[in-house]
Amino acid sequence: MSQNKPIQTNRARMKKEFTAQSQIGRAGKTGLARIALTPEYNRVRKLVRGWMEAAGLGTRVDAVGNLFGRKEGRVKGLPAVMAGSHLDSQNPGGRFDGPAGVLTALEAVRRIAEVGAAHDHPLEVVAFVGEESACGIVTFGSSVLAGQLGAAGMKAAIHPPTGKSVYEAVRLAGGNPARVAGCRLPRKSLKAFVELHIEQGPVLEAAKVPIGIVDTIVGALRGDIHFEGQTAHSGGQPMSYRRDAAMAAADFMVEAEAMARRAPEGQRMTLTFGMMSARPGWYSIVPGGASISFDLRSKSAKASEAMLERMKKALGRIRKKRGVKSRLQRKVKYVPCPASRGIRQALDRAAGETGHASLTLSSGGIHDACRIAALCPVGMVFVPSVKGLSHTPEEFTRFPDIVAGAEVLASAILRLADRRVKA
Ligand SMILES: [Zn+2]
Repeated sequence: MSQNKPIQTNRARMKKEFTAQSQIGRAGKTGLARIALTPEYNRVRKLVRGWMEAAGLGTRVDAVGNLFGRKEGRVKGLPAVMAGSHLDSQNPGGRFDGPAGVLTALEAVRRIAEVGAAHDHPLEVVAFVGEESACGIVTFGSSVLAGQLGAAGMKAAIHPPTGKSVYEAVRLAGGNPARVAGCRLPRKSLKAFVELHIEQGPVLEAAKVPIGIVDTIVGALRGDIHFEGQTAHSGGQPMSYRRDAAMAAADFMVEAEAMARRAPEGQRMTLTFGMMSARPGWYSIVPGGASISFDLRSKSAKASEAMLERMKKALGRIRKKRGVKSRLQRKVKYVPCPASRGIRQALDRAAGETGHASLTLSSGGIHDACRIAALCPVGMVFVPSVKGLSHTPEEFTRFPDIVAGAEVLASAILRLADRRVKA
C-alpha cells in the first residue's frame, strides 16, 4: 500500500477544541477535575459527541457511558480500527492526560473523511468513560468493553464524588448499569486499537523527539507490607532494646530500592513506596506498628515475581535483625501488555511518512489499551510531557507535538484500515 501524501491536520480547529474541552471541569488555571460519571463529565462528552456528529460520524453512548463515533469503511462486515482514550481526569489532573488521545483520534478520522481517503475497515473513535482511579475503578469503561468488569464489581466500588457505588453513579449519570454485560464488545468487532497518550515521563522531551512508539505497557504488582514490633517510650527505651517497626520498614525500603535500581535496564523496573504510616504515631513513642504500600512494575512479569521473592528474603533478614514480625499482602496484579508488531510497524511507517522523528519506549503507566488487548491487537503512541509531569495541573504538552501525534495517528490508522495490512 502506498500513501503519497500524509494527512495534514486542521491546527486551528484542533486548538479551538483543546481549549474548549479544557474549560469544562477546570481546576485552577491549568488543571482539570473532571471525574467520570459527574455532570462535568457528561458535558464534555456531549461536546465531543457534537464534534463527532458534525464530522459525519455515527455516534453512540453505551449503557455505562462509553462514547463511540464511527465512519464506515468501503467493505461491509469488516472489524473496526479503533483509536481514542479517555476524557476524565484525576482530581485534580492536567488537561492532556486522556483528552489528547480522544481529540487526536477525532481529528485523524475527520481528516481522513475530509480528504476522502479510501479505507476498507470502519474507523472508530472512542472516549472510554472513567480511566482514572478518581472515579472509583481504574480503566472502568475499557474494562467493561473487554468483559472484565460486571455489575458485582461496579456495586463493590465507591464513586468518590457521589459517595455511592459506581453502579449507582452510572445510573445517576443517566446510564443503565443493569445492562453492563451488553456493553461488552465482541472480539470480531475490532481489528486493532491505537491509543495516543501523553508520555507522563521524561524520555521524549530529553531526546527532543515528538513521537514515542510503545513496545510494551508494563505490568504491576501492588500491595501492602505490615511490620509489627514493640511500642515503647522514646526516652525510656535505649536504642539497643528497641523493636521499632518504622525503622524496620525504613531498612526494608532502602534495601528493596537498591535491588530495584540494580535491575537490568531492559526490565524497566520501578519500585515505589507511596504510602507509609507508623503506629501509634507520636513524637515520644517508639512505633510498634508500621505499614507501607508497594507498587512494583516491570516489562517482564517473570522479573517482577523474582523481585518480589528477593523482597521477601530481605524481609526475613530484617525481621531477624530488628526483632519484628512482617506480613506482605499482595493486592493487585496487572500483567505486562505488549504492543502488536503490526501496529508498531504501522506507527513506525506513519512517523516516517509524516516526517516526525520517533523512538521506541515502554509505557510505565497502565492505560485503557491494556484492557482492550483482551479483544484485539493494540498499540500506543506517546507525545512528550514537559518535565515528564502528569497527574498534576502542571502537566503540559506542546501543541506542535500534539499535532505531530495526530498526523502519525491518522497515517497509521489509515494504513491499518487497509485489509491487506496485518495488525
Ligand atoms: Zn490517561
